[in-house]
Amino acid sequence: MRIVDATLFALQIPFVEAFAHSVRSRSYSDSIVVRLRAEDGTVGYGEAVARPYVTGETVDGCLQFMERTLWPAVQATDYLRWTGQNPIAWLASLALPADADSLATPGVVAWHGARCGFELALVDCLLKSAGVSLGDLLPPRHPVTYSGVITASSVEGAVKHARRFKQFGLPHVKVKITGEADRERLAAIRAVVGPQVSLRVDGNGAYSVESAIATCEALAEFQIDSAEQMISRGHPQDLATVQANSTIPQMADESLITLADAEALIAARACKSFNLRLSKCGGLGPTLAIAELAQATGIQVQVGCQVGETAILSAAGRHLAAYLPEISFCEGSYGSLLLREDLSRRPIHFGHQGLAKPLKGPGLGVEIQDALLEKYAQQIISLTTKAV
Ligand SMILES: [Mg+2]
Repeated sequence: MRIVDATLFALQIPFVEAFAHSVRSRSYSDSIVVRLRAEDGTVGYGEAVARPYVTGETVDGCLQFMERTLWPAVQATDYLRWTGQNPIAWLASLALPADADSLATPGVVAWHGARCGFELALVDCLLKSAGVSLGDLLPPRHPVTYSGVITASSVEGAVKHARRFKQFGLPHVKVKITGEADRERLAAIRAVVGPQVSLRVDGNGAYSVESAIATCEALAEFQIDSAEQMISRGHPQDLATVQANSTIPQMADESLITLADAEALIAARACKSFNLRLSKCGGLGPTLAIAELAQATGIQVQVGCQVGETAILSAAGRHLAAYLPEISFCEGSYGSLLLREDLSRRPIHFGHQGLAKPLKGPGLGVEIQDALLEKYAQQIISLTTKAV
C-alpha cells in the first residue's frame, strides 16, 4: 500500500486554563497533526508534540524533519497491511528514520515527536484501510484509570485543583513541584484529598542531586508513591544516587527518551519506574520495546502524556495503557477538560473516577474533524508524491 500525500498541520488550540511546571507555562496546544492519504483513498492521522526541553525538537525543526526526511522515506515505501501477524513485528516494519545516533542534530536527542506523528498516521491509515482497530493488534487487558495532574501554580490554586479532582473521584493525583513551597503544597493537597488517594510528584529536573534527596525526605511524610525526574537529564549515576538515598521510588521521564537511555538507567539501577510517553519515545513501536525491557527487568511503567495533546495521541496512549500487562499509573485523555476544542467528533476524555473505555473503532478509534484542523492551524504544509 502506497501513501500518496501528506498534510502537516501546526496547530495552536487554546487551553481552558494555563498549565505550568518548573520549566515553563503554556496556554495552548502546539501539536503537529500529520494527515496521510493512501492510494485507496483511506486517510489516517498522527500527532507529534515538539518539546525543546525533552527531545530537543522545536515545532519548526519537526516540520522540516518531517518534510525532508520522513516524507521521502514514507512515499518510497510500499507498506504491508496488517493481516494478523505479530503486532510488534508489524509496527517495526513501519521503519522510519529517526534514530538518535544516525541522525544526530546538535541539541536534538532524537526526532521522536516527528517519528511518532508519522508512525501513528501510518498505523491509523493502514489499519483503517484493512477495517481493523489498533485494539485488535494490542488487545486491552484491563480498564484504564487516569490520574489528575496539578499544575505548578500557587498553593491556593493547587488546593482548588485538588478539590475538583476529589469531587471527580480521581484515585491518583500527580503534583508538579518546583522547589518553592513544596511541603506546604503537598501538605495542603494531602489534607484535601485524604489518605486514600495516591499522590506522586514531578520535578521536571528542577533539583540538584542534594536538593532532590532533601526534598524527597521532606515530602515522605505525605505518602508519595513516586518522584518523577527530580534532577535534569544527565548521567544515570546521578539519578541512582538520588534513588539510593530516598525512600520515595524515583521515576525517569526526561532521562528516558531512547532504548539506549532505558538500558543505561537499568544498568545504573537509577530508578524504580519509567514514564513512557509516545511522542517522547518515538511512537508505538519504540515505546513497546522500552516497555518490554522494563517488564523483563522489574521496572514499573507509567503511561504518560504530553500536556495539550489532542484526541489522536490520547487514543494511541489509551490503547497502549490498556494493552501493557501492568502499569502503575496513566495520564492523558484530558481532551476538552484542557483544550477549548478537541479534534475528535466524540469526546475522548475520561469520566468519573478517571475511568475510560477502550476505543474500538477502526485505526486509532477516533474520528478527526478536518474543519478543526483548518480552524486551529497556524501553518499547513501539503506534500504530494511526485509523478515519476
Ligand atoms: Mg514528567
